[in-house]
Amino acid sequence: MRQGRRKINKDFGNKYPKFLKAKFPEMFDESCIEIAIGEGWSHIVTSLCSAIQFQIDHNDPDQIKVLQIKEKFGGLRFYASGCNDYLQGMISFAESLSYRTCEFCGSTQDIGRTGGWIKTICKECATEEKSKRGDFSWTQREED
Ligand SMILES: [Zn+2]
Repeated sequence: MRQGRRKINKDFGNKYPKFLKAKFPEMFDESCIEIAIGEGWSHIVTSLCSAIQFQIDHNDPDQIKVLQIKEKFGGLRFYASGCNDYLQGMISFAESLSYRTCEFCGSTQDIGRTGGWIKTICKECATEEKSKRGDFSWTQREED
C-alpha cells in the first residue's frame, strides 16, 4: 500500500469523523465522544464499521454504539457499547492489524514504533519525521 502516501489530506482530522457518521448513522450518535486516528488506519476502521453493521443487519444482534476511536500506545482503540463476543472479536482483530499498519500512510511494510510518544509508523514515514525533529527514535517491529 505505497500508493496514497505523500500527504495526503490535511483536513482528514475533520473530514473523517463526518464521513464515518454519515456512512454508519446507526452506529454513531451523541455518545461518541472522539474519533481521532491517523489517515493510515482509516481503511481498517471503515472496514471494521462496515463488517460490524453487516453482522448486525443480517444476524440481528443489538445495535452497537461507538463511544470512542483513538490511538493509544501505538495501537488502535475502538470502544463501543453493546458488543457481543463475536463483535468484540472483530474489534480485537482490527486493533491487532493497527500494529502492522503505518498510522500515517497505511503502509504494511517496514513497520516499527517510535520511542517516547509511541506511534506505529513505517520506516519511510519515520525518516520523514526524523528530518522534522531532533529527538526522534524508531525501532522496527520484529517479525512474528
Ligand atoms: Zn508510513
